[in-house]
Amino acid sequence: MLDYYGCQPLAMLCLLGVQTLVRFNPMNSRELLEHVTLADAPHDSIPVRAPFTGDTIGAIPAGIPADLDLAVQRARTAQVAWSRLTFADRARIFLRFHDLLLQRQNQVLDLIQWETGKARRHAFEEVLDTAVVTRYYARRAQRILRPRRRKGALPLLTRTREFRVPLGVVGFIVPWNYPLNLAVTDAIPALMAGNAAILKPDVQTSFTALWAVALLREVGLPHDVFSVVTGDGPLLGPALGERVDYVMFTGSTRTGRLVARQAAERLIGCSLELGGKNPMIVLEDADIDAAVYGAIQGCFPSTGQVCVSIERLYVHESIAERFLATFAERTRALKLGADLDYSIDVGSLTNERQLARVEQHVRDAVEKGAVVLAGGRRRPDIGPLFYEPTILAKVTDRMQLFAEETFGPVVSAYTFALDQEAVDLANATRYGLNASVWTRNTARGARIAQQIRAGNVNVNESYAAAWGSVDSPCGGLKDSGMHARHGAEGILKFTATQTVAVQRFMPVGTPAWMDPALHARWMTRLMKFLRHIRVLD
Ligand code: NAD
Repeated sequence: MLDYYGCQPLAMLCLLGVQTLVRFNPMNSRELLEHVTLADAPHDSIPVRAPFTGDTIGAIPAGIPADLDLAVQRARTAQVAWSRLTFADRARIFLRFHDLLLQRQNQVLDLIQWETGKARRHAFEEVLDTAVVTRYYARRAQRILRPRRRKGALPLLTRTREFRVPLGVVGFIVPWNYPLNLAVTDAIPALMAGNAAILKPDVQTSFTALWAVALLREVGLPHDVFSVVTGDGPLLGPALGERVDYVMFTGSTRTGRLVARQAAERLIGCSLELGGKNPMIVLEDADIDAAVYGAIQGCFPSTGQVCVSIERLYVHESIAERFLATFAERTRALKLGADLDYSIDVGSLTNERQLARVEQHVRDAVEKGAVVLAGGRRRPDIGPLFYEPTILAKVTDRMQLFAEETFGPVVSAYTFALDQEAVDLANATRYGLNASVWTRNTARGARIAQQIRAGNVNVNESYAAAWGSVDSPCGGLKDSGMHARHGAEGILKFTATQTVAVQRFMPVGTPAWMDPALHARWMTRLMKFLRHIRVLD
């Protein structure tokens, strides 16, 4: 058994001798591990390796179902008092979190980089998005969830109101690719709605999740209202799903189906944010420079390990040669590295499994005739999991990466002649998460966007415009998921509806003193009259 208090990331990283790496982790791993819920039982531990170097940076407890029993039991008790607070009281906590997050961003940026290997500019997207979403729900939750008057069964006699009530305890299962953002931005609306939450982060990125929960507790979130249980997904994921009142899952479509099946069996709700194979269409009238920049931003963020990143590029045949030459040249010039500053364009892949998948997809494509326009190889000289941003042409449907999500810095480029052809190609996938259209004619772009079967479509942006419009739902169609995050939908799903109807003067059914036949006649006349004066429209 490893001693998970024994690994000291700071000491470890100092030994690496790289100047910019030494600032790591003002809160050490021992402090963060105090925020894990652990039952009184022996626990193994799981080492966490830094993608940049392959060195162990800490270890997390290998949670067991008894930890979840404890977390759920505490959450159920804590949720009662939490749900009775006013929206303003709850919002105050999250607005303080917003401010401290921005103030202490360098701590968590270091941590995100160490756990994921991504470049700092991509880690910053997480900080920014987390702040924006936190503020949005802190400010809007009350308005979205306020009780609403509804038409009563009998006009004037029935006063009916619809309430939104919390579900109880919501479970969150999240992957490693956006460890700050995915750990808290969906939980915050659930909490604002009066629920308690239990988070199971990925083993690779539990420290970032713990950092966020520690900060929330520091600014006043009651301890048991938001718990973290760390450990193995196939063990803890289903065990969490067994115990909570709703599950929100973010991860692969394969695991999402398991989560949905379990939720259906238990008759609880679930929402799923799953994979993508996202297309970008460049029309003949696009600003080529802007579109190339957009392609770079869209294809290689977080080293391509973003659910909304672009993996299929459709360029109009009249500009394809110029576009692809410029795109390839700028891609080759991207700076790869492991520095904890903003000088790096693209970081590392996060784990061996991702590297193996990227290598397998590119190898398979090249063996079957694909042409490498840029990249196409790993870079062990920079770090064990680095892979060059890669553009492939002549990709066909016999190749694995044609339809499968690579989830890495690899994009396939194709050409098209007609708008409809581009739309059909973009839609020829089982996924429907994100898409992007580039044109100088934004009305035309918006028309094409509406024909694409994806939950988010950006015109003259690759993903940030739709993702960043947090007042609007952000989710997937087809195999990319169900029940979006963001906007009203992103908080309503964590509530149940409750209708309270107050009846006055006489009952809706036959009054005790009235003959039922007379009641039927009167009611029929009343219905006709109400229809006539349009009360029941
Ligand atoms: P994954 O499905 O393997 O793991 C995701 C989470 O599920 C992890 O916490 C894991 O421990 C847990 N898990 C594993 N087995 C489980 C089980 N049987 N039951 C319940 N939970 C289990 O996903 P991954 O490969 O780590 O993540 C990458 C995938 O996530 C990609 O497909 C990517 O597109 C997707 N993703 C989607 C979004 C989105 O918002 N749509 C965001 C980020 C990532």
